Amino acid sequence: MAAESAKKPDALRNVTIQPGFMPYAEGSALVTFGNTKVICTASVEETVPPFLAGKGQGWLTAEYSMLPRSTHTRKRRDREKVDGRTVEIQRLIGRALRPTVDLKKLGERTILIDCDVLQADGGTRTASVTGAMVAVGQAVGKLMQKGKLTASPMGLFVAAISAGIVNGVPTLDLCYQEDVNAEVDINVAMTEDGKFVEVQGTAEHGPFDRAQLDQLLEIAAAGIRELVAMQKRALGAETLKLLGR
Ligand code: UDP
Repeated sequence: MAAESAKKPDALRNVTIQPGFMPYAEGSALVTFGNTKVICTASVEETVPPFLAGKGQGWLTAEYSMLPRSTHTRKRRDREKVDGRTVEIQRLIGRALRPTVDLKKLGERTILIDCDVLQADGGTRTASVTGAMVAVGQAVGKLMQKGKLTASPMGLFVAAISAGIVNGVPTLDLCYQEDVNAEVDINVAMTEDGKFVEVQGTAEHGPFDRAQLDQLLEIAAAGIRELVAMQKRALGAETLKLLGR
């Protein structure tokens, strides 16, 4: 797309966050990063997994899936078994989002995140994390509004983005074509105060050095600062107030 080829290497693609996209869910957002589109929902269940029963704390977990035609060639639906990539991505989403909620203050309930990819063009896991944050914010806001919680369990905002070195150039928010050609490829999840929650980095064509990694972390951190501002705008003043933010 013309708009995408015009993107500066260290800039985000065109990002949109549409909160409340799935009104039956306690929290939801449709996020788009260029041609990547993901629906994220956060559902609240008044139970915890057996290993946490009676411990007075809550849980947060995530599931990830791609629609069959989210990809150029049809991806079979997961039926009996979930593939390794899906397991890896949903665990990443869960880990990345856990610092956003104080599980003790949440009490014995579970926040279940679902990220469903409508269209994939690179960066679906990082888009999922970024959108799920908004869904969680809405869901927790709803618990506060209903008076189910006295103190807000809202922790730090988290967003995630990919970056890579493409034809020697540090590039933010890779589309599929860039991802395929990248020499180095990283995914970063970071809190709003600039601390890392997860860094995944891989040499795709030959090893990379510390200076290259630092360059990528630098542009990723700048992108994440922009994304956190967008998440907060998407949630809006009323919800942020309910969250004590
Ligand atoms: N992709 C695909 N089919 C798959 C897996 C991935 O077409 O089964 C494409 C899709 O565009 C995806 C990209 O490859 O966004 C990069 O995939 P990766 O596993 O690196 O995860 P992502 O970048 O989406 O987090």
